[in-house]
Amino acid sequence: MTSRRSGRTPESAAAFQALVSSLERFGEVNELTENLFVVDGREMLLAAYSSQAYYTNKGYYWFSLAKTKYQRLREWPKDHAWIVLVCGGQNRFFIPFGEVEALVSGMPPNRRDGRWDLYIRYEAGRAHFGVTHIANHVDATSQMDRFEQLWNNPEIAETFADEAVAIPDTLPPVGRETVQVVRAIRDTRESRYVKQIYDYRCQVCDWTAFSPKLRNPWYCEAHHLQPLAIRYGGPDHASNILALCPNHHCMMDLGIMAIEPYSLHILSTIRHEANQKDILLVKQNHGLNPVYLQYHLSHIYIDVATPGEKILTGENLR
Ligand SMILES: [Zn+2]
Repeated sequence: MTSRRSGRTPESAAAFQALVSSLERFGEVNELTENLFVVDGREMLLAAYSSQAYYTNKGYYWFSLAKTKYQRLREWPKDHAWIVLVCGGQNRFFIPFGEVEALVSGMPPNRRDGRWDLYIRYEAGRAHFGVTHIANHVDATSQMDRFEQLWNNPEIAETFADEAVAIPDTLPPVGRETVQVVRAIRDTRESRYVKQIYDYRCQVCDWTAFSPKLRNPWYCEAHHLQPLAIRYGGPDHASNILALCPNHHCMMDLGIMAIEPYSLHILSTIRHEANQKDILLVKQNHGLNPVYLQYHLSHIYIDVATPGEKILTGENLR
């Protein structure tokens, strides 16, 4: 991608372009607006540039950060937001946004309206990153590889939607209130383990999907039989997890499908689902615990007779 908006001097424009090119090995890079980039659709970066000339004169790199752009980073999931400081087209520091915010929150309101003053100062072979005040800093050198680690370390690299939309116990009254639906994004070692056992195929219907957009190009979801939410207290452990396609994941969450804990028969109020495949595929190395199947059956499954299911016939359609 060619950076068209960032960099007001030839020197800074070249530095931003070099940054973009280096980011492309992680995924598609989009330039949202001047200095704001999204990598692979999920990591937002606010990049700032300071020239070597400035460093030579002052002894530190100084960056000016518009608060409107800072605000946009705050709206992004914190674990996926970064401030990238480009020092004279040479070093780049990827500072996790949480670290920046912690420094900013410790500072009195900035003197310069509408901007934050950030700096990097080198001392004894280390780079110190700070906000406004020289004593308010973190070691930027230790942060240098954090962004790269996000991709190299599968513990945090892969994020799949593992939990379907949380269904509240009671629905708020219809009105003007704003309701926020939180979809937990999780990919733990345990859920990945279960998905791998089944080659990313649904244990009910064998469905999988392939997309080169995914870091692991095969897709299925991990369903926690006893939900993880505090009020349910389920463990994030393979014994409590099924690998499911999005449809069957949703049906399990809605309580319209369950598994008989010992026979592994698939119970469903939707007749054709139950008939599609009768028995849940369970491999021995999965270590699935029937206790959690029982929990789901007793607490989540709603055993209702198919309520007025209608088959569309020529007569209905007329
Ligand atoms: Zn399925």
